[in-house]
Amino acid sequence: MYDVLIHDATVVTVDDRNQIIENGTIVVDDGELTAVRPTRTEDVDLSAETVIDGSGTVVMPGLVNAHTHLELTPLIGAFSDLGLLELMGSMTALFGRISEGEFEYLVDAGYELAALNFLLGGVTTVNSMDLRPSVGAETFGEAGLRGFFGPAITDLFFDVPVDEQFAQARAFIDDHHDTYNGRIQATICPHDDWSCTRDLWEQTAALTDEYPDLLVHTHLLELDESNTMARANGSEDSLALLDEVGLLNERLIAAHFRVADEQDIQRTAAANASVAHCPSVFCYWNPDAEMQWTPVPELRNAGVDVGLGIDDHYWHDSYSMFGEARQARLAANVKRTAGQYSSMELVRMLTIEGARALGVGDEIGSLEPGKRADLILVDVDKPKFTPLTNIPAHLVNNAAPADVETVLVDGEIVMRNRSPETMDVDAVQQRAEQAVERFEAETGWEFDVGGSEPPSTSETMRDLPKRGPVRLLSRLALQSARDAFPFRIR
Ligand SMILES: [Zn+2]
Repeated sequence: MYDVLIHDATVVTVDDRNQIIENGTIVVDDGELTAVRPTRTEDVDLSAETVIDGSGTVVMPGLVNAHTHLELTPLIGAFSDLGLLELMGSMTALFGRISEGEFEYLVDAGYELAALNFLLGGVTTVNSMDLRPSVGAETFGEAGLRGFFGPAITDLFFDVPVDEQFAQARAFIDDHHDTYNGRIQATICPHDDWSCTRDLWEQTAALTDEYPDLLVHTHLLELDESNTMARANGSEDSLALLDEVGLLNERLIAAHFRVADEQDIQRTAAANASVAHCPSVFCYWNPDAEMQWTPVPELRNAGVDVGLGIDDHYWHDSYSMFGEARQARLAANVKRTAGQYSSMELVRMLTIEGARALGVGDEIGSLEPGKRADLILVDVDKPKFTPLTNIPAHLVNNAAPADVETVLVDGEIVMRNRSPETMDVDAVQQRAEQAVERFEAETGWEFDVGGSEPPSTSETMRDLPKRGPVRLLSRLALQSARDAFPFRIR
């Protein structure tokens, strides 16, 4: 007897040929896909513990959120109407306090709320960089989801001593790597290329030598300051620095790559490193309209795996990975010209390319026999999907999280007919509400039905980490001066 049988579904396999089976059957046994093929008349008589009539649904691989931060999820709505400087100031102050151990209740509620909402929206794998990832690893593990988690390490952003940060990273890896039947994996997360010194990169490389199975997850080439800081660190540019310390390789998954040039693209491809593209967060919080847009088509043409990430989703109030695909297209088209992607390419970035970027493309990301059964059923028996022509376009232009009906991860049914099997929806909502009430009472933040108000500028200034950001800004300023007057300042 099989574990799960789905029959009479439209199956978007996302295999190498992008095959779509109009009337397909999927068999799951022991967590694995054992058959993905056209439905036969005898399929209705096959015995399985769970039989799902897939008519009226599209079955596709579970969505991969290839770069995100989850612990502040209950603060959805708090930032989206602020100015860019207010956002940056209040976030830096908050991160400083969380790094010192405050707001545990908010972090706990944050991971629960994130797990629940991503599950409801068909996201079966996340790659999250946070400050307190232990709770995340356990929450996602218990919810039956797949996740890559790691604590952010940086020496020019927080005031937590670097030795302490590395000790926490080691403890996290030892406790959580490869847990929950391999669904939860630890990562090593130097935060970015604008807030880390060369010494931190070198220590990170030493840590990766100790743990050769782990991915290295970071932000790269996000801003012009990325390369400025690399020069301050004694390298030609950001990727040269990573190469010099031994981190530019197939273990690297880096978010953004917005200012990547042709040489960066070639170096990334040659190193077999991967990219997570996060279009919404940049479209929402664009610091410089003149700046170039992430060269995703060029990266993909060069052979780089590019997944999609929702990044700090509570800065732009979205849980929709379908929305990231749509935004990737709109942003690329408006910055360049129409037709930057086909719909199927965007489906691939949401699934198999995200999986490959995370080094698990052989296990998940497409529906093929032998792979783990991470899949979602999208209810397309709705007026909005009628007529059901060009399914890839419907998925990336028209589908929403609420259209996801059933979700399987590793062969287990984690949501059936919109009802999560592994999480208590009411309890999660209640804890998120209570956490925000307490947060409001403990801080100068104010939330009401019409909006939010961060603490006053002076309160925010008081809470900012002191040493890290001051060193960061002075290094950038000095390097910018050196770049402007290369012969005078040494
Ligand atoms: Zn990020």
